Amino acid sequence: MSLDLQKFRNIGIAAHIDAGKTTVTERILFYTGVSHKIGEVHEGETVMDWMEQERERGITIQSAAISCSWKGYHVNIIDTPGHVDFTIEVGRSLRVLDGMVSVFCGVAGVQPQSETVWKQATRYNVPSIIFVNKMDRIGADYFKVVKDVNERLNGNALAMQVPIGSEENFKGIIDVLTGKMVMYTDEKGMDVKWVDMDPAYADQVAQLRDAIIARAADFDDNLAEAYLDGKEISIEQIKSGLRKGVLKREVFPAFCGSAFKNKGVQPMLDAVLDYLPSPLDIPAVVGENPDTGAEEIRKADPSAPFSGLAFKIMTDPFVGVLSFVRVYSGSLSSGSYVLNVTTGSKERVSRLVRMHSNKREEIPSVEAGDIVALVGLKDVKTGDTLSDIKHPILLENIDVPTPVISASVEPKSKGDYEKMITALRKMTQEDPSFKLFYNEETAQTVVAGMGELHLEIQIDRLKREHKVDVEQGKLQVAYKETIQKPVDIEGKYIKQSGGRGQYGHVWLKLDPLERGKGFEFENKVVGGTIPKEFIPAIQKGLEEAVTTGILGGYPVVDLKATVYDGSYHDVDSSEMAFKIAASMALKSGMKIANPTLLEPIMKVEVDTPDEYVGDVMGDLNSRRGRILGMEEKGKGQQVIRAEVPLNEMLGGYSTTLRSLSKGRASYSMEFETYAEVPAAV
Ligand code: GDP
Repeated sequence: MSLDLQKFRNIGIAAHIDAGKTTVTERILFYTGVSHKIGEVHEGETVMDWMEQERERGITIQSAAISCSWKGYHVNIIDTPGHVDFTIEVGRSLRVLDGMVSVFCGVAGVQPQSETVWKQATRYNVPSIIFVNKMDRIGADYFKVVKDVNERLNGNALAMQVPIGSEENFKGIIDVLTGKMVMYTDEKGMDVKWVDMDPAYADQVAQLRDAIIARAADFDDNLAEAYLDGKEISIEQIKSGLRKGVLKREVFPAFCGSAFKNKGVQPMLDAVLDYLPSPLDIPAVVGENPDTGAEEIRKADPSAPFSGLAFKIMTDPFVGVLSFVRVYSGSLSSGSYVLNVTTGSKERVSRLVRMHSNKREEIPSVEAGDIVALVGLKDVKTGDTLSDIKHPILLENIDVPTPVISASVEPKSKGDYEKMITALRKMTQEDPSFKLFYNEETAQTVVAGMGELHLEIQIDRLKREHKVDVEQGKLQVAYKETIQKPVDIEGKYIKQSGGRGQYGHVWLKLDPLERGKGFEFENKVVGGTIPKEFIPAIQKGLEEAVTTGILGGYPVVDLKATVYDGSYHDVDSSEMAFKIAASMALKSGMKIANPTLLEPIMKVEVDTPDEYVGDVMGDLNSRRGRILGMEEKGKGQQVIRAEVPLNEMLGGYSTTLRSLSKGRASYSMEFETYAEVPAAV
């Protein structure tokens, strides 16, 4: 049986940490009837928070998909984490979901992380509706948050509701389109009553309604005509016009409520159905044929060849490894074989599992547009493409940011070494932004990740899930090296004493590149001074050489190497000789090109009450921080924005901030760029 794809929604719920994403998700699961108990976050009992330490920290880090249904629609909720250390998790969930509910705190409005998530949603073109939460809190202001989104995120938010009462008197919400007000009569918010609104709001509602119609008319010519002619316009017409705008990401309908007090969640769910895309509304997925490189397109059609993207690998204590897959086209049944196009291996899917909040449901098959967990795949990583064996397609992989921080790890008991490595390998498979290295110089195993908390949590998981107790070394910032001036340099690898010799000879030009450009290679050899067949070897030699710089053995970045001249020998020249010559040239060229170390610079935002602004800034300055600006945020509250080298933020900035501000300031931090380490440091 084919399910009606129009009635599918793959959504994510994104928010700044603490805005109430977990609570909102909980309530959705409750009202959709899957979860029978409302788990409160502060009691440390939630359905979405899978892992123990997430519960302890009260944050959701790992994304998983949970299925539920609402008014005959099948809704998959892909959990998107809020902590910035884990932006890769956010990025990968945005990749596979079709629409988003952006949760904002009614008091704090747009916060640093909501900006990050918003930017990513823009990049992945994800349409969104807005839910302004915590309307029961003192100072909550729905219309201010809508304005905030418009001004700070350039968001085109559109008020669809009017909250009635505020703070503890927040008692209902008017739906502008119908003019009805939703009232809740019971504690759990199960009993939803729609009543006529209080006439006192009639003018305000009429104005907002006009604004909505005018906006909807932008996307529907018939509607625009009817509107200009003063004709009656149906709610369905307005919604359908608006929906077009939402799908284009040109309008973001905003709703409000209090998840905690069980208000406003059902109307928001209705809006998910009304405005967010179905799998048919998103463009067909584009990839390439792995053999020919030709472009391949797959429509969300169950009868097309199967294709899907593995966006999350998790180890479930009961069923083993689960690979969460977004199915883009075709269908897949349990017991069948798929091609892992990324690795080239064929794998058998032993079971298909749909995850609900409180149970796993085994399903015989899955079709385009859906999200499912596969059991039985042996060698699959996050970002791998799976496809029909006869019709391979390689989808774009998920962007993995490079780690900025590392630490050595060593098992507490020597016998645990193999166990530790096996566990770490598995963890890197689950989370590609978590890396594992062996440092030959120090003979240490090193793990690297996106931030202090990221590493802390991974090492915690080693202990809890994999039962390996480890000793962690000092946190090290991931430095890089680059050059600051262009040079021309010669590299010669010539050995001609008896027998067949070696002859490799190159002239390179090294140029510094802008930050973030990485390494580039160009071939400008003319007239065959170096035969074509040796050029790839030169490139290879350079690519290997840039993995370890000359200052501290750190990777070399933001450098362009152009080979433009050299010479060869008919007999003695070989790929190996050119490879070595190129590598030698790069190393000696770097020495005279003003080499310098680069360090990761973090974007830091501190929210603090007025009275601690001086101390917080002073402390940031002493950490080599550059204050970018300060903004008033609510009464007596400031947001300080700064760029600070990661190295200076290591080892308990949160503790310092707490003691500076008597626990009243908070901060967020994310990677911004690499910059030169000042000579004085
Ligand atoms: P997340 O970090 O975005 O997942 O946020 P949580 O759902 O964990 O919520 C953070 C805190 O805010 C918790 O203590 C919640 O109980 C509380 N909270 C969530 N929603 C509301 C709400 O609507 N009103 C109030 N007053 N508190 C809320």
